[in-house]
Amino acid sequence: MKDWNEKCAVVGIYNAYNASILSYYALFAMQHRGQEASGISASNGQKISTYKNNGLVTKVFNENILEKLQGKSSIGHNRYSTAGEDSMNDSQPIFAKYSLGEIALAHNGNLTNAKEVRKSLIQEGSIFQSHLDTENLIHLIAKSHKNQLVDRIVDALTQIEGAYAFVFLSRTKMFAVRDKYGLRPLSLGKITNPDGTEGYIVASESCAFDLIGAEYIRDIQPGEMLIFEGAYSKHIPTPKSIKIFPHNPYPCIFEYVYFARPDSKVFGKNVYEIRKQMGIQLAKEYKIDADMVIPVPDSGVAAAIGYSRESGIPFELGIIRNHYIGRTFIEPTQSARELKVRLKLNPIAELIKDKEIIIIDDSIVRGTTSKQIIKILRHAGAKKIHLFISSPPTISPCFYGVDTPNKSELICANHTLEEVRDFIGADSLVFLSLEGLRKSISCDDSENFCQACFDGNYIDDFTKANL
Ligand code: SF4
Repeated sequence: MKDWNEKCAVVGIYNAYNASILSYYALFAMQHRGQEASGISASNGQKISTYKNNGLVTKVFNENILEKLQGKSSIGHNRYSTAGEDSMNDSQPIFAKYSLGEIALAHNGNLTNAKEVRKSLIQEGSIFQSHLDTENLIHLIAKSHKNQLVDRIVDALTQIEGAYAFVFLSRTKMFAVRDKYGLRPLSLGKITNPDGTEGYIVASESCAFDLIGAEYIRDIQPGEMLIFEGAYSKHIPTPKSIKIFPHNPYPCIFEYVYFARPDSKVFGKNVYEIRKQMGIQLAKEYKIDADMVIPVPDSGVAAAIGYSRESGIPFELGIIRNHYIGRTFIEPTQSARELKVRLKLNPIAELIKDKEIIIIDDSIVRGTTSKQIIKILRHAGAKKIHLFISSPPTISPCFYGVDTPNKSELICANHTLEEVRDFIGADSLVFLSLEGLRKSISCDDSENFCQACFDGNYIDDFTKANL
């Protein structure tokens, strides 16, 4: 699935030597959550230094740059942007000087009432430097009359709606907070420094912990803020937890379907195991005879393994993915899209020729990528192609921090199953039920998830009122 993009990754490192280098590695591990721009802010206790630029983490940073980002605490951000809004001004962390000192901020999510808040801030005299909804927070914090930064952050958060995992950095403290629904993930881990002292990491995904040898502790709870302080004392205290909003969890179910890396633990559960279960559930719901099960790499691999295991149909890597694809240098037309799929995915014709195959992918958005995949499989000589999708049809756009096409572009929102199958060109097309998806996560009826892109039920009143 290629048309549905997580907007960002955030990381925060506290009380670690070379904090900016650890942020760099954490951002590298979370590159899949944003490839347009990357940035790090670091504090040495006296001042905050920031560097950000467009491009992949390895392109943006080098040893010289990281050397200049001195200090024991840092925050970082990978950005995914929509077309036309990828200027440097819109990359993060956002840094500002205000009456209490300096602050840097990184955000994963989307503030649903951002336009309204921005309008009223502008009317009151604020001058914005970016298109970012996140910049609202900086202005709200700067304008707050509270005496302590922590109170100003709380004051600002009570004025915004929507999805967020924020990390804030001041000269001496770090703050990490999730919105009351816990829509976007944010986990806490422990770092052991070479001298035996302890530090902390917060990150969108736990795969960031593994790369730097940090230990997963727990998720930051929906509506919870963690305050990290004491970086320059001998023993830093455990981060202080404040409940800002009542616990009302609705985490994003799509993290399990597509966004998160399979080696991550998200919302407390391993993503790979859940994706495998999605394949098992799919086989329980739809069992047919076929010569082999093949995944769309990499997004369909775990579900295809699960399907194969449950159905007894052999698993084969029938399509090979080229991991080294950059941009295509032709106009963004349909033929460019075709070329992009062909550059990335190549079937093994000798394996597929004259075979009846089940191909497994995680989801369908516009249907154009699936159509191209079916086309290249037919070209490779497949006798029959059954496209099995390991999640329900996506029928509604996301307003909570994921870049999605409009409803009019979501093929399943506007066409019957038979019309979609016909457009894609598969011999059959099936989707995992929503109940099957929830079973894969082992959640009971009382456990809530945001699943609005599958059922259209948005969770917050502001979005419902403004549809
Ligand atoms: S609408 Fe879909 S993608 Fe967006 S937060 Fe909800 S489940 Fe996740």
